[in-house]
Amino acid sequence: MSKTQTQTQTQAANSPTLQLRGQHAVREGITPGFPVTTDLESSPFYAVQTGDTRTVLPTFSTPEEERTYRKEHLALVFRILHRQKLSEGIAGHCSVRDPVEPDTFWVNPQGKSFARMRASDLVRCRVSDGKMIEGRGPTDASASSIHSQVYRVRGRGGDSGIESIVHVHGPHSKAFSSMGRVLDMISQDACAYHDEMVLVPFGGAVFDNREGERIANLLGHRKIAILQNHGALAVGKLSIDEAAWW
Ligand SMILES: [Zn+2]
Repeated sequence: MSKTQTQTQTQAANSPTLQLRGQHAVREGITPGFPVTTDLESSPFYAVQTGDTRTVLPTFSTPEEERTYRKEHLALVFRILHRQKLSEGIAGHCSVRDPVEPDTFWVNPQGKSFARMRASDLVRCRVSDGKMIEGRGPTDASASSIHSQVYRVRGRGGDSGIESIVHVHGPHSKAFSSMGRVLDMISQDACAYHDEMVLVPFGGAVFDNREGERIANLLGHRKIAILQNHGALAVGKLSIDEAAWW
């Protein structure tokens, strides 16, 4: 072990804010004097982060117009994921809730390359049981069963409702998932997932809706599930763009 590594670990072990225990960093309180913002509304950045100047989503004159937008963005998400080398053969599936009939969702058909996905390729399934009701399909059984149950358990609106799901077998997330842990909060990038990530133990191949229900229940209100020895699943509360970014 290098001197620098030893010094760093000793400093971290003595720090009141970060105690390294085995592989896990545990927050033990806030350093006295550390500038923690408690009055968020008085911050000069509050309006920028939360106010009218922050454009989150476009508005639509009809649900059908929003459906077209969501399907186009979902198709684009597949292509972006492919460019980021996050597609793997025929594995992986992403979906977005249908704004016209919110008890249904749009998802990729089985075997279609992420690189060539079009809005017209997407198929629509029911939230209640995952059954496909529109499109040339078929979709992957694990896609319809997992996505349907995550949408069903999380519902729509409120604190835990969701509008989208992204599931990929990216090389990094799959390798990390085999370690059986979630990210430590050791960088500002990781902090985006504070209290938003859960490890889901490997449950085997998916043959029915029970695996989706298990993942959804373990996920709870969070936005990221590390599927052990498998990959990652992210949900979006507003858009497919959001879930793809996570
Ligand atoms: Zn998978």
